[in-house]
Amino acid sequence: MLVALREGPDGRVEAGKDLTPGDFRCPECAWPVVLKRGRVKVPHFAHQPGSPACASGGESVTHMRAKTLLARRFRAQGYEVVLEEAHPAQQRRVDVAVTLIDRAGAARRIAVEIQDSAIAVDEMKRRTTADRHAGFFATLWVFTLSRLRHARSVLPGYELRLPEEIRYLINRWRTPIAVLDIEHEQLLLVSTETAVRDGNSYYNQHGDEQWSAGRVLKATREVYTSPGEFALTAVQGRYAAPGRPDYTVGFRPAVEPECPWRIVTCLPNHTPRSTDLSVAPSNLLQRSDLLSVVDDGGTVTLTHLLTGRLWHLVVAVAYGDHRSYRWRFQE
Ligand SMILES: [Zn+2]
Repeated sequence: MLVALREGPDGRVEAGKDLTPGDFRCPECAWPVVLKRGRVKVPHFAHQPGSPACASGGESVTHMRAKTLLARRFRAQGYEVVLEEAHPAQQRRVDVAVTLIDRAGAARRIAVEIQDSAIAVDEMKRRTTADRHAGFFATLWVFTLSRLRHARSVLPGYELRLPEEIRYLINRWRTPIAVLDIEHEQLLLVSTETAVRDGNSYYNQHGDEQWSAGRVLKATREVYTSPGEFALTAVQGRYAAPGRPDYTVGFRPAVEPECPWRIVTCLPNHTPRSTDLSVAPSNLLQRSDLLSVVDDGGTVTLTHLLTGRLWHLVVAVAYGDHRSYRWRFQE
């Protein structure tokens, strides 16, 4: 847990703040807790031995790091942030409660919920409803990379099998899914397209060739990842109609530079202009000047400016005049 209670005027204190030693207690069960600061781990509070079973215990380090990171970035946006806000009547402890002030001066509260592990869709709906009853305008779900492990490294259009709760959110809101890359302090917005399988040909009992219909995959989707900013914006849902608003809140997409790719190395002695590399690596396969470098035994490495990821152009197969090129990313 990141928040504890302390006697005196402090009241509710955050582990990440510069705290003087003192007696801290768990806000949930009031058992004494101790402030833990490590160089690697995120500052947090832990129950002292012998505590009763408590909903605030047993939290993953990843989950605490994600909360700390989001709180810091939201505060940098000027938002008012409360960590681990308890709503006992709703049996809810909101990971990060954010207050936005609109132009008219009205406050709107957003419950940001971080998922580092699987969650049942019914539980998701329960928490969302509880948040509404607790006065929140919307619940914003943020997944860690462990829930969408390849989100950071796949090429555009790559097919991924998505967890059920992520599919539910996509179907409900038709908006990108927020994935937090804690290590790189990056927010990835993952949008999806339907993945379709072509039909197969077969011969019927009369010996005529026929085609079976193609099919739309359910759990597997094509994914497209783009960077997001830590700024919140209203998102319209799919059930919006005149007189019936259907809004939630999402992260604002980052403004992508005209050319998100920059050539790091292009050896030997060949430096193509980088200004026209405005497409993803898979589409760069058409660039004959890059290919000729690889054909001549040279190397081409690009960096994606928004994710900082390095990509290498490699020749995978070469037989006769035909070559098959592939991209490979560097961990
Ligand atoms: Zn406790």
